[in-house]
Amino acid sequence: MEKNITENTNMACDKDFCALLGKNEAELREICREHGLPVYKGGILFKWLQAGELVYDQMTNLSKAERSLLQEHYPLHLPAIRREQRSADGTTAKLLLDFGGGILVELVIMNYQRQQSRSRHTLCISTQAGCAMGCAFCATGLSGLVRNLTAGEIVAQVLQGQLWLQRQGLGKVTNLVLMGMGEPFANYEQVCRALRVLNAENGQNIGWRRITVSTCGLPAQIRRFADEGWEVNLAVSLHAPDDDLRSRLLPVNRRFPLAELLAACDYYTNKTHRRISYEYALLRDVNDSPRQAQVLAELLAGRLAHVNLIPVNFVAETGFWPSSDETLNKFAALLKKRGLEATVRERRGLDIDGACGQLRRRNDE
Ligand code: SAH
Ligand code: SF4
Repeated sequence: MEKNITENTNMACDKDFCALLGKNEAELREICREHGLPVYKGGILFKWLQAGELVYDQMTNLSKAERSLLQEHYPLHLPAIRREQRSADGTTAKLLLDFGGGILVELVIMNYQRQQSRSRHTLCISTQAGCAMGCAFCATGLSGLVRNLTAGEIVAQVLQGQLWLQRQGLGKVTNLVLMGMGEPFANYEQVCRALRVLNAENGQNIGWRRITVSTCGLPAQIRRFADEGWEVNLAVSLHAPDDDLRSRLLPVNRRFPLAELLAACDYYTNKTHRRISYEYALLRDVNDSPRQAQVLAELLAGRLAHVNLIPVNFVAETGFWPSSDETLNKFAALLKKRGLEATVRERRGLDIDGACGQLRRRNDE
């Protein structure tokens, strides 16, 4: 596969032109078998696709007849890049990807400027267009769910991010966070399919421990995810230390209150031995008091937990304001004093709205 990758990002349409990207090697072998192609060609196809080569005619170790058969049955292209923005501080880039049919999804690429060979390149990918969960401070939730992304569309974001890094002369995607648009566990099947492909050794080969799935807290899916037997990092969007406030900020809490959520989280840690990261965005005068820090510390006491304090990103329509740096640091100090591990998340990519909770459909601009 030592060749330049030919990009194929033509016309937008509402068919899933990424479908084959969500197939693992065994499934591609099966597709080949169904069409009377030698089964081993499925492995060849998998390698090409995962190398980002989507133009069948470039797949020189497939015969001409095989290529045209695949072209006929499985037309393929990556989502077109409609817009590209880079933050002034050089740490973050954001691509607006067009999957056709009005489905626009944002992909965030972090730390792209670091050229050292051991540098990390993290992609923040989306799992749904829009989101049905309606969290009070989140831009994605504002317009509701448009639709689930398919496994192929989730993998396509990673390929597009990888090709973008290559064009900058940078290396491999090393880390993935599922913290873009959408609730991953509300699209469980497709997300897990995509993760299997992304983890595959002859695919993107991204280790489980380099993947983080962020959820607003769906207990049944957290348990099911634990049972997959992967060591994926789980981030749980907590944002409030008690049911009353959490139900106001995250409507999902009305269905699945904290006790139920935390029991599922304990199950996840017991099964995977992974420390869970609890996300807590500090909202001025809403969830940032010393008393709330204390209640939070009590809630998580004795758990294998890490609290990620996020300076909330201002989204005008939501009416929430970020806490001051002073409040933030005080909150962190209070948690640490009570023995909880807590860090304040770096602000990155703010000037391009590339930060958490700011991703939304902006096709009207
Ligand atoms: N739906 C999943 C993953 C996508 S949201 C989830 O909710 O976890 C990714 C993270 O961004 C979540 O922790 C979410 O709570 C947070 N977030 C949403 N809006 C935000 C905002 N305005 N500022 C900071 N973080 C925000
Ligand atoms: Fe959906 Fe997550 Fe935004 Fe809540 S925070 S609306 S779950 S994307």
